[in-house]
Amino acid sequence: MNQDHLILLGTGGGPRIWSARSQPASALIIKNNVYVIDAGDGVATQMAKSKIDPESIKAIFITHNHSDHVADFGTLLLRTWQSGHNGFIQCFGPPPVKQMIKSYMDYMQWDIKLRIKEENRPKFDSIFNVNEINSNSFVYKDNNLSVDCIKVPHGTAKPSYAYRFKIGDKRIVFSGDTSKSVKLIKFAKNSDYLIHEVLNIEGVDAIIERTYPGNKAFRRHIIEAHTTMEEVGEIATKANVKTLILNHLVPTGSPTLDKSEIWRAGVSKNFKGKIIVGSDLLKISI
Ligand SMILES: [Zn+2]
Ligand SMILES: [Zn+2]
Repeated sequence: MNQDHLILLGTGGGPRIWSARSQPASALIIKNNVYVIDAGDGVATQMAKSKIDPESIKAIFITHNHSDHVADFGTLLLRTWQSGHNGFIQCFGPPPVKQMIKSYMDYMQWDIKLRIKEENRPKFDSIFNVNEINSNSFVYKDNNLSVDCIKVPHGTAKPSYAYRFKIGDKRIVFSGDTSKSVKLIKFAKNSDYLIHEVLNIEGVDAIIERTYPGNKAFRRHIIEAHTTMEEVGEIATKANVKTLILNHLVPTGSPTLDKSEIWRAGVSKNFKGKIIVGSDLLKISI
């Protein structure tokens, strides 16, 4: 793969089990180097299906610590190590991500020890480093790109980050999970690609009815922590983005609502630029 790509590995938002979409994860492939954004359940398998070489991972960026974004963060590192990556992978995310990986290492200690002894592997934690982000900041730089981040509002999940990748003269922004954010509009101004989460509010009531009937607080929590289709369109217009990519689609897998034409219609009310409705394993040339 010579051309630079964005691959949407998983585009379903939320913690429940479903088959329609894998949990959130994306990969930027720049000059055959791999940069992973979020690591929900199934990320390693989705990478394999996308024919991404695990030994080419250079960095991993976690937007926040909700399980749909980190469920397989440890597994991704472990399987990458077991697939022969000798390092070095720089990882970034908000606290307590460092402690979470430490706990994962404790959880897998029995296996890790055996493999180091029997398969002559390097120490597991010699192939990566976890850096915690505590504020809006510059995050990472190498020969291919530089990355910075800002905090975005995501209900009680604090902090949550949006990341901006600068690749030559291209700008690619990942919203992470967020409610409508004026700061994000500024952060994403004139970007080439904005990968934004999206909520179909009609689907929220269906979810509540199925899972927590009558639970108004949970309904409020979902709505306050996420961005509706109309709001995503408004953000993309105000930020003047060239291409809007819809990601973290909620409700995921709804037979009536999780349809490309519905997402597109909802967002295009307020955005007349190019819209790509995200789907798992979708590869986009950048
Ligand atoms: Zn999420
Ligand atoms: Zn979240």
